[in-house]
Amino acid sequence: MERARELCSMAADVTDTATRVRADTRLRRRQRRDWDAIWEASQSDPHRVLHSCAYCHRMKAPSGEWVAIPLTVSKSLRSYKAPFVSHGFCPDCIATHFPESLRQELLDEA
Ligand SMILES: [Zn+2]
Repeated sequence: MERARELCSMAADVTDTATRVRADTRLRRRQRRDWDAIWEASQSDPHRVLHSCAYCHRMKAPSGEWVAIPLTVSKSLRSYKAPFVSHGFCPDCIATHFPESLRQELLDEA
């Protein structure tokens, strides 16, 4: 009986690990699509303004999501064809760094 419990526990661990790996893979694919979309947006219109969070440096993807940009992608954006980058605050940083009285106003602008 103890061995059966042990095996069930091991099977649950394997399932949890597989679930985490799948979720991680989905996240990486989505991030990659967002990075590609930001890159394409920056290259299709040299006057396009890209938005970057002044606190966490995530960038706003055309989908509206704020995504972390790897340093290599960020450097490519700056050096290949310089897009105009405007700094603002992402919703997470507004919630973390600003008093509640300012949040709604900043969220309306974000
Ligand atoms: Zn931020």
